Amino acid sequence: MTEVTFACQWVGFECEWALRAPDAQEVVRRMRDHVRCAHGLTDLPADLEARTAAAARPV
Ligand SMILES: [Zn+2]
Repeated sequence: MTEVTFACQWVGFECEWALRAPDAQEVVRRMRDHVRCAHGLTDLPADLEARTAAAARPV
């Protein structure tokens, strides 16, 4: 299985947060927690979820 990488700034936040995860689904899960903690959102909006999944790329 290929790990994927993702950086919060790839979807437009001025943010240094980035991660590696086993797959895009896990990236979305971690991003949902991250936007709640770091960006004050109550949830990950559907459009941002789609952009997050699309932006995640193989390491
Ligand atoms: Zn962020």
